[in-house]
Amino acid sequence: MSSMKHVVRPGSTIGMLGGGQLGRMFAIAARQCGFRVQIYGDPEESPAGQVSDRSWFSSFADQDALRQFAQHVDVVTYEQENIPVATVETLLQHVPVFPGPELLRASQHRLLEKTSLRRMGIPTADFLKITSESELRKGILDFGGDAILKTVTLGYDGKGQTRVGSESDCGAIWQSLNVSEAILEKVVPFAHELSIVASRFADGTCSFFAPVMNHHENHILDVSISPSALISEHQTLEAQQIARTILEYFDVIGVMCVEFFATHDNELLVNEIAPRPHNSGHLTINACRSSQFEQQLRAVCGLGTGDVSLQTPAVMLNLLGDHLQHQSPSAWQTVFAHPEIHVHLYGKSEIRLGRKMGHLTVIGHDVVAAERLGRQVRAGLMGTT
Ligand code: AMP
Repeated sequence: MSSMKHVVRPGSTIGMLGGGQLGRMFAIAARQCGFRVQIYGDPEESPAGQVSDRSWFSSFADQDALRQFAQHVDVVTYEQENIPVATVETLLQHVPVFPGPELLRASQHRLLEKTSLRRMGIPTADFLKITSESELRKGILDFGGDAILKTVTLGYDGKGQTRVGSESDCGAIWQSLNVSEAILEKVVPFAHELSIVASRFADGTCSFFAPVMNHHENHILDVSISPSALISEHQTLEAQQIARTILEYFDVIGVMCVEFFATHDNELLVNEIAPRPHNSGHLTINACRSSQFEQQLRAVCGLGTGDVSLQTPAVMLNLLGDHLQHQSPSAWQTVFAHPEIHVHLYGKSEIRLGRKMGHLTVIGHDVVAAERLGRQVRAGLMGTT
């Protein structure tokens, strides 16, 4: 069932694999358009489960539960890339799943991802497959004594990553990773990081949100800005072309995000692909007529694209557990007093350091002023102003 032959109408039920904040924002968009949503695979009271019609708490390997779930939904999509490919393949025997397994498989394995990109002629950081301490030692030398060692699977937000240099204790680093293969990447001395969220529809058409400039803190996305004066028209077109090539290569129907490094020579290198909406696209909820979640809904339901043009400049600031540990009611009053600030919280009750709890989107014609305001009110929540 790789191509869509029918339209999934409002009133139908969409199955969502994963219950995190991306599933939650999808469910909100889907419900607004009159769809029902059932969540599969996350614990009770999940961010998505709170705003959905039903949650299934079974494992992704539970064949019986997957079959039953498939009977209750009209189409399935997902909100994270660590859904086992076998789960999607099981579901596909009963119900359409978008995007299909090809992009999912590549995006959950860094070596396969980068090898596929290379095959498409898309530039990435130089990389090597590493299977032993001696390969690691040699790779570091090949990369000029400075590299990043990453696990091939289950790495996100900087998890499973170690910066290694020629002075590093390769034996200890290799052993602590405790895997049979890893990827070593040359450190890219990037000028900035950007991303593009793109959608592809059953008829093969693609649509692209404006590219977004991203700042990370401790490898976790902190602030996203769109539009950015640092992203040229030429770079925008190049990012779109790369995204289109990837969407077509994997025959994607759905939403995908491509993260890039922009070098000082204005070259774009792909860092990562996500087979779903992305944290850097959250500002589209308030800055575009059709958000990245509505685009996901439209694509998986066989409906056409919405208007993805930026209606207003916007800045998104993540709210991590770190920002919300000491939140005072008066600081929230200040946040809500600003008409240009949109508050998004994900309904997570336990506040942990590094945990994504929500985000703020600040709308305004001057993105520099919007970022300043966002940072100021976020610092206020932390009690540091
Ligand atoms: P990742 O989990 O691979 O997306 O990496 C998270 C962040 O680590 C990226 O957004 C970059 O800020 C940084 N990073 C990862 N790989 C590299 C690299 N090869 N060169 C420079 N910075 C990197």
